[in-house]
Amino acid sequence: MSNDKKTARFRTFLILGAPGSGKGTQGKVLGSIPRFHHLACGDVFRSLDTRTTLGQKFVEYSSRGELVPDDVTVQLWRANIKQRVDSHNFKPEIDFLVLDGIPRNVEQAKYMEEDIEVLRVFHLSCPDRTELARRLRKRALKDNRFDDASEAVIQNRFATYEAETKPILEHYAGDRIVNIDASQPPAKVLYDILGGVMTLDAWKELEKLKV
Ligand code: AMP
Repeated sequence: MSNDKKTARFRTFLILGAPGSGKGTQGKVLGSIPRFHHLACGDVFRSLDTRTTLGQKFVEYSSRGELVPDDVTVQLWRANIKQRVDSHNFKPEIDFLVLDGIPRNVEQAKYMEEDIEVLRVFHLSCPDRTELARRLRKRALKDNRFDDASEAVIQNRFATYEAETKPILEHYAGDRIVNIDASQPPAKVLYDILGGVMTLDAWKELEKLKV
């Protein structure tokens, strides 16, 4: 990869965690702070017209608690992020990208290496699956999430996370991983994430810019 290509990669924070660990909540709050741009892959999928081939594919896989195939997912993600850059909604020169729900497995992480420079992986850890399932059931009612409504699908989502998503932690192993206790109140989780961001040189450089 050329140096030009390297500098063009988006400076990115990943929020990683099992379904119900609070990725979306944290991503949304971070995204409301200037210089952080949040993108949730699940939201991009949910915004698709279900009459389209891709929209139908999403319903087919997500209703089983499975991942949509990698090639279409990364293509959709690339198209979506390009729109955000073109519309100046996301300004990569001055904004950090906060990704939640993507990459969802090591294959996607490899595909995306040419697009993103991962600065930190915030791992929202909550070994208590009963608590996570409780949160998902609550969300199913509140947000009309069909994939969180059935017990079998919830369990399959956890199994998919363990088998496919968790190995991402090994892929990025080292200083970039920040483990955070996701059973803490959301404000404390946010505090821990921001603490991790503010030790970074990239953050300190941005502070100097005063944009
Ligand atoms: P989420 O809102 O992140 O829990 O995603 C809901 C569903 O969308 C998942 O269960 C998958 O079926 C699909 N999905 C979201 N992100 C991805 C991804 N990066 N790769 C494959 N499927 C995804």
